Amino acid sequence: MSIKNKLFLSFGLLIGILVIGIVLNQVISNNAAKTYQKLKVEAIPAMKAIEKYDGINRELFLLISSKTFNSTIGFKEKNRLNGILDVELPYLKSEIYYLQGKQSTTEVQVSGIKKIIELSDLLITQAKEINRLLITNEDYGDPSKFNVAKSIFEDDITDYYTALNTEIISLDLYYNELLENYQNEFAESLNWSSNFILISGILGVLVGLLFSYQVILSISKPIERLKEAAHQISDGNYETLVNVEGKDEIAELASSFNLMANSLKANFKEIEESNNKINIKNKELEQFAYIASHDLQEPLRTVTSFIDLLKEEFEAELPENGGIYLNFISEAAVRMRKLISGLLEYSKIGNNRVFQEVDCNDLVNSSLDDLGVAISDSKAVVHVEDLPKVNGSEVELRSLFQNLIANAIKFKKEGVNPEVKISSKFEKGKWVFCIADNGIGISKEYRDKIFIIFQRLHDRSEFEGTGIGLAHCRKIVEGHNGQIWVESGLNEGSSFYFTIPG
Ligand code: ADP
Repeated sequence: MSIKNKLFLSFGLLIGILVIGIVLNQVISNNAAKTYQKLKVEAIPAMKAIEKYDGINRELFLLISSKTFNSTIGFKEKNRLNGILDVELPYLKSEIYYLQGKQSTTEVQVSGIKKIIELSDLLITQAKEINRLLITNEDYGDPSKFNVAKSIFEDDITDYYTALNTEIISLDLYYNELLENYQNEFAESLNWSSNFILISGILGVLVGLLFSYQVILSISKPIERLKEAAHQISDGNYETLVNVEGKDEIAELASSFNLMANSLKANFKEIEESNNKINIKNKELEQFAYIASHDLQEPLRTVTSFIDLLKEEFEAELPENGGIYLNFISEAAVRMRKLISGLLEYSKIGNNRVFQEVDCNDLVNSSLDDLGVAISDSKAVVHVEDLPKVNGSEVELRSLFQNLIANAIKFKKEGVNPEVKISSKFEKGKWVFCIADNGIGISKEYRDKIFIIFQRLHDRSEFEGTGIGLAHCRKIVEGHNGQIWVESGLNEGSSFYFTIPG
């Protein structure tokens, strides 16, 4: 499965669990709300009504008992008795009556309520009868009234009251039980609700963690393998390939990586082969340059010595032009000797090279000694900063400094004394040397060309030279695994830089 789909699935599952949790919790909360509503609307008002009804009946019983047996019952009590009989009890009775219509009421309960109302009606009727019989103090002295009232109280009212009390107690018990049930139900719903929140939360977190872990593993492991393979390839192990498992984006990346590694391998092989060919050609060329320059020296020496003999022995006999021509031939032979020996030197660079620790300060000082005449003739000023010790060939590095300093003095501006500054700095694991001058400078288009052998930018009449010096320098620097370049502009002086690994 693709990583995108895995991520969608894990988030989907997490959200799904949370949604189910929320919906179930909502259902349970609704249940709890309904139960609470029942408690509030049914059970509690019913209990209150029963309690009040019970209290009023008890008060009625006590008041009617006082009325029956006590002729001196006060005005207040009489009023209260009448209030109960005419207003409070009928009102409360209707409240009790109303309970029949409630959802939770059972048939047994309905018949209980009916009985309570019947008994209550009888109680009211009989109480009213006593009230009617015993109005004045004289009524208490009248046995036909008092005795009837007494027997109504003792026989009927007491019975009705006892029966009514029993019914009220049983209704009260029923509602008590109902209240307890509702309370339990409500508490249970709340409990379930909090459990659901907890369980869906924990489940969501666990699923999230599990899937994230799986996705992270499925991404990080192959990436680790890819990183390892990339390191191997950068170390030159072009055979390295990555194991491709599955069909996700990482697997696609791994197969692209393998394709890249294969094409790198093929390209590298090609480059290696052409490098080998170039190296062989270079060797052949160097060999040729060496043999040619070496073998040309001998006939050239013969030509030079015979020109000298010719001059010595026949100069007086030669016509004027003959002497001039002979001088041209002699000068050309000298130039040719210089070129040939330069070429020979060039082809020998790198042969028998011995690397050792070399103090560049010493190299520069001995080069300056060698260039003493040129420096004093041109009135050059040379500043040398403290230079490092490097690992390299002493002979070659001396020749490198000497060539660059000699050029910095030679290519001076007309009428300006040369000023040369030699410095170095350590940068990114290598020493960068700089030989800067205030000379004629080099225009941008020739910056690379001057490092090619025999390339010169000026006529011999302007500046003497063979065009071999900078080619020498480049070969020496490259033989030390460094680079050489120039920063300059026409008439702006030149700064020659080269690097030697630190
Ligand atoms: P040569 O000095 O024998 O001419 P080089 O190889 O040393 O040969 O230099 C090649 C060319 O680069 C020079 O002919 C010159 O035109 C240019 N060049 C070298 N060094 C400098 C310099 N410091 N300032 C200006 N031009 C330079």
